[in-house]
Amino acid sequence: MAAPLIEVENISKVYRMGDVDVHALRDVSLTISEGESVAVMGPSGSGKSTLMNILGCLDRPTGGTYRLLGEIVSQMDRNALARVRNRTLGFVFQSFNLLSRTSALENVELPMLYAGVSGRERHQRSREALERVGLGERMHHHPNQMSGGQQQRVAIARALVTRPRLMVADEPTGNLDSRTSVEIMSLFQELGRTGITLLLVTHEPDIARYASRVVVMRDGHVQSDKTQTPLVADVAAAGIP
Ligand code: ADP
Ligand code: MG
Repeated sequence: MAAPLIEVENISKVYRMGDVDVHALRDVSLTISEGESVAVMGPSGSGKSTLMNILGCLDRPTGGTYRLLGEIVSQMDRNALARVRNRTLGFVFQSFNLLSRTSALENVELPMLYAGVSGRERHQRSREALERVGLGERMHHHPNQMSGGQQQRVAIARALVTRPRLMVADEPTGNLDSRTSVEIMSLFQELGRTGITLLLVTHEPDIARYASRVVVMRDGHVQSDKTQTPLVADVAAAGIP
């Protein structure tokens, strides 16, 4: 059987603050298979961001083991982690983090600049990614001429363009109204059908229902971890006029 996408064994994260140790994660173990969509919930300070930063290879745990696609990443140095990120991961944030006076097309091309992809291929792949998120007609628009939902779609296209296996999204609907939030979740569900695994932090139970699994963090622990049949993200079904 293929290795799970993510295998986390007894990881901890301790931040040293002067003389005080802050235990942001304590003994967290999780296995996530390819194609799952996992909503991470929990109160502020419970360790959600710390966990996402580690799973997204932006930071390393203090203890324990993290395997991504069978490879131990918890001991890697910064350069090796950056290579894993470029190869395997896409990131989407609450604030879309786009260059506002640069076209959607160029925004989406950016991650490939660092990956050494040729100009012609960058253009082609950027165009395809924007079509995939439903913005084929707007690729020459600038983010400051777009709605929040459209900007988040550009950000998702930018995350997709390097062909990630795992999307890490930190409150991707936090700045969006409920209709647009459902539309974005519908897009994530479409991507999920192509095999992309989704890990998202959300404070909204309504959004977590669109995931196939809900992990609740509390005081650095996994308080609960439940799989569910995800609700199909559909504006009409959600009762949004
Ligand atoms: P959440 O995202 O659930 O709000 P965090 O992962 O941001 O939680 O934080 C978990 C705990 O770790 C909190 O007590 C927080 O204050 C602490 N923490 C997070 N990042 C740092 C840091 N860089 N330095 C020191 N303490 C931190
Ligand atoms: Mg946080």
